[in-house]
Amino acid sequence: MALREAAGNTVRETLANSMAQETSRDIGPVVLLGPPGAGKGTQAKRIMDRYQVPQVSTGDLLRQNIAQGTEVGCAVKAVMARGELASDDLVCEMVRQRLRQPDCEQGYVLDGFPRTEAQAEWLDAFLENTVFENSHPENSHPEQSHRFSSKENPSSKSHPRVTRAWPIVIRLDVDYNQLLLRITGRRSCPTCGRIYNVHFQPPAFDEVCDVDGSKLVTRNDDRLEVIQPRITAYQEQTGPVADYYQRSGRLIAINGDQPMDVVTEEIFRILEGHRTENSVIEDQRA
Ligand code: ADP
Ligand code: ADP
Repeated sequence: MALREAAGNTVRETLANSMAQETSRDIGPVVLLGPPGAGKGTQAKRIMDRYQVPQVSTGDLLRQNIAQGTEVGCAVKAVMARGELASDDLVCEMVRQRLRQPDCEQGYVLDGFPRTEAQAEWLDAFLENTVFENSHPENSHPEQSHRFSSKENPSSKSHPRVTRAWPIVIRLDVDYNQLLLRITGRRSCPTCGRIYNVHFQPPAFDEVCDVDGSKLVTRNDDRLEVIQPRITAYQEQTGPVADYYQRSGRLIAINGDQPMDVVTEEIFRILEGHRTENSVIEDQRA
């Protein structure tokens, strides 16, 4: 009996793992664009849970570096406290190292990156190299090489799985006054990273994480005097990123003013649409 249960559990685990792999293979890179407080982190965590791909948040990575007192942390601490952007070179190198980690092989959600046109160009170049390093010869067909890469051994005779290479870019648009409320009300758990909001998503007990009981913290740059420079940086430096993706028809804007669950549903629908498109292409290749 115990053996049968154990076997059943193993089968279930294997099935769950392979379903998670199937799901994660299909979405590839996802970029969440949007002003500070738009809900990128909140939605990135939901995509991560559903599709089993990691959230790569440049803001979180930089804050970790500051907390650990690394060279990168020391270089960006004052810049971030003023609400300005860290340098492209520093951020791109940090992202390059992160995307080379094995957990990113089947996709990831970029939250807060790219934030300048130079970063967007860098990401495309990075993805293009990833395509050509790992691609199956069939994928070097010009129409497909821009969109898909294969992680399979090029010499493999079997039908290769394809993974989206160019990112799906989703921008969350949110009204200015709503942004102010979201940013000033934001709290996060220093232990598990869960995000709360004193107005819209309060914890069960005041200022305490529902998951692990840690005392919630307010980000250093979520102060009123730093919010305006951050929004200005978004408009002036990140605005061109949206134009960049718009020009190549890759930008999908959604109404981020809606309740969290509605925004999540829209995002999942977009991602599912791309997965369907991907499966059709896989079927045609089979
Ligand atoms: P970003 O990563 O874009 O800066 P967050 O995901 O951290 O934004 O969200 C900012 C704040 O707004 C958080 O406190 C979060 O709980 C809240 N929030 C996120 N999405 C919504 C939403 N759709 N409606 C209301 N509040 C939201
Ligand atoms: P939010 O979206 O709420 O503004 P983030 O956590 O994404 O917050 O970013 C916080 C800060 O980290 C930014 O104001 C900026 O100083 C720095 N930062 C994050 N991502 C980047 C990036 N891609 N390029 C340059 N600076 C960045």
